[in-house]
Amino acid sequence: MSPVLYRCAVCGRTYPLQERIFRCGCGGFLELQPVSLFDKSKLKLRGRSIWRYREAFGLPDDLVQISMEEGCTPIAEKRFDGFSLQLKMDFMQPSGSFKDRGASVLVSFVSRMGIRDICEDSSGNAGAAVSAYAAAAGLKCTVFVPSYTPESKITQIRMYGAEVVRVPGTRQDANDAAISKSTSSFYASHLWHPFFVMGLQSAAFEIWEDLGETLPAAVIVPVGSGGFLEGMYLGFDSLVRFGYAKKLPKIIGVQASACAPVHIAFVNSRNECADVHTGVTVAEGIAVPRPPRARAVLTALRKSGGYTVAVEDSEILDAARSLSGAGVYVEPTSASTLAAWRKIRSEDRENALLVLTGSGLKATDTYSTFLQGGDAHRSRV
Ligand SMILES: [Zn+2]
Repeated sequence: MSPVLYRCAVCGRTYPLQERIFRCGCGGFLELQPVSLFDKSKLKLRGRSIWRYREAFGLPDDLVQISMEEGCTPIAEKRFDGFSLQLKMDFMQPSGSFKDRGASVLVSFVSRMGIRDICEDSSGNAGAAVSAYAAAAGLKCTVFVPSYTPESKITQIRMYGAEVVRVPGTRQDANDAAISKSTSSFYASHLWHPFFVMGLQSAAFEIWEDLGETLPAAVIVPVGSGGFLEGMYLGFDSLVRFGYAKKLPKIIGVQASACAPVHIAFVNSRNECADVHTGVTVAEGIAVPRPPRARAVLTALRKSGGYTVAVEDSEILDAARSLSGAGVYVEPTSASTLAAWRKIRSEDRENALLVLTGSGLKATDTYSTFLQGGDAHRSRV
């Protein structure tokens, strides 16, 4: 194994990577400090997937990669409201969302550990991504979902061969059920596990490479658990620390007003999320009431000089219409970035880069209801 250690972000305890853990004994979340970066002179010889940046993931050199050529998604330039914007088309991935970046790295790692049985909790993009990579690796996979989850959301997970367990109660109850199961099956959690975050760094590297080894001034990213924001920050920070780029982009995190614990913590200058009242939103991908890695997400926001924006469902659906009208069909969670861009400080608007995280094909029910003029299907949190 590589010399990298897990380090608890709360108490500082370290663990070797051989330990089969997803969090610290104190309950804190684990971090990995990237100790190396890829050699950029080698990139032109490498294939087009996230694995072209493999040295940055902190994994052993002889690891077998569980890959379906994820990543290397294009950046499209489009004009909205008289401004030129860059759209990172990150929904163009094997399972239809950015989560394939994290799933590819995490499932490769757990396979290397000799683990053959994993569990996860998510009825959305993470459940699909982890199920897809478990199938590719030949692992048994169980996904816990809240009992109210519509069948249409579970179909993709079932098609990959994962077992779906419906848990009565809330999204949090599904999370607790997965943690209980983790004594017999490894909890390959997109919410907790730091190797998932390591894989998400790859989006930052791609942006840097595709923009001619420069970084944009501002990047707008949806925030649910905040793992993508944390991962992109780590990637941008490594590029600056290793001398590949000059300045971090300002990272702007977007939450739905109905479920905005990170936004509320940020504007109140807190380092942790408090329990907040949460409602329903069309942007179910970012409706995470208790994000476990919030401390790292809030630190990343502040260190980048960024900030948070909360958006209403009506603004998200307007933005989804605007994007679709330009030929870009994404789910409401992704459209939240354009809704947020319409509310950010004017100096950050020109040439901002919006990260579009999930395909519109994932949100057929929501958009179908929207087009019929009804109350679009909403997440319960
Ligand atoms: Zn700890």
